[in-house]
Amino acid sequence: MRKSVKVGNVVIGGGAPVSVQSMTTTKTADVERTISQIKRLERAGCEIIRVAVQDEEDAKAIRRIKEQIEIPLVADIQFDYRLAILSIDNGADKIRINPGNMSRDRLKDVVAAAKGKGIPIRVGANVGSIKRRTSERWKDLAESALEEVRLLEKEGFYDIVVSVKSSDILETIKANEYIAEKIEYPIHLGVTEAGVSETAVVKSSIAIGHLLLKNIGDTIRVSISGDPVREVIVGKKILIALGLREGVEVIACPTCGRAEIDVENMAKMIEENFFHVQKRLKIAVMGCVVNGIGEGKDADLGVAGLRDGAVIFVKGEIKERVSKEFVLERLKHYLNELLEEVER
Ligand code: SF4
Repeated sequence: MRKSVKVGNVVIGGGAPVSVQSMTTTKTADVERTISQIKRLERAGCEIIRVAVQDEEDAKAIRRIKEQIEIPLVADIQFDYRLAILSIDNGADKIRINPGNMSRDRLKDVVAAAKGKGIPIRVGANVGSIKRRTSERWKDLAESALEEVRLLEKEGFYDIVVSVKSSDILETIKANEYIAEKIEYPIHLGVTEAGVSETAVVKSSIAIGHLLLKNIGDTIRVSISGDPVREVIVGKKILIALGLREGVEVIACPTCGRAEIDVENMAKMIEENFFHVQKRLKIAVMGCVVNGIGEGKDADLGVAGLRDGAVIFVKGEIKERVSKEFVLERLKHYLNELLEEVER
């Protein structure tokens, strides 16, 4: 089993549930906007938030931000050791640094500050910043990260989280598999610069999903350009789909000429309404009863379209016919019954 670290009240590694994290897109010193974005992320299920620290203003803002948020905060520092120490002094629950960019004495100071507050440090490598040594870029990536780990170990620091990220999913997979063999520290997974919308979702799901299925990875960040709330939603969905987290999985038929209801919108509406439910349940949205009930029989609860309404079925058995405007209300009723049954 991997070692564990504690980031605020969240444990990473050591068999703890895989946590979902994200990064704010606001200027950190803009405290009001940063807090408001973090609150939206918290509501979406974000468990750890990272903020960029570019200058003293950003580092000092951490204290005020932390007063108003619930989840642990990670300060992301590129190379300035003073900003790392200032972030720690202002209450960061973890810092992300690049020890290779600091002199030994300065790294010693950062390590002393982190030890003093009992917070972990994340190190790692991105493919953009590595030194090329071999003909295999994934290996250079992994070795660069391991070098950073050794720099911290030399200072007697072992509260470490490691990441190796590339925008190429095969490199990300190989590099993570390699470091997982070499070290016991918890691993932060992600595909860097994954891109926009579907491309980012596909790349992240393949790389993160593959690694988690091999039991590699203790915390995840899905990178998607744009609103970070999407990163959290996709991250949670990856964990639910892998069976690593309890939650509602909405399955929907692809629709065809037989569809009698607007499957896409109904599935979206159901997802939005039941996303907060933390129980392992499947809800099926099927366009018609001809094949829908048979195809959706593995679901705990489902709806299938009729010409003049819909039928609701529970574990493959039809419970009632409803008109389309009452579908959500009746699904909620049956979902509550199922939840009571699960809790009994
Ligand atoms: S459930 Fe009905 S509408 Fe959906 S794909 Fe199957 S046959 Fe078509």
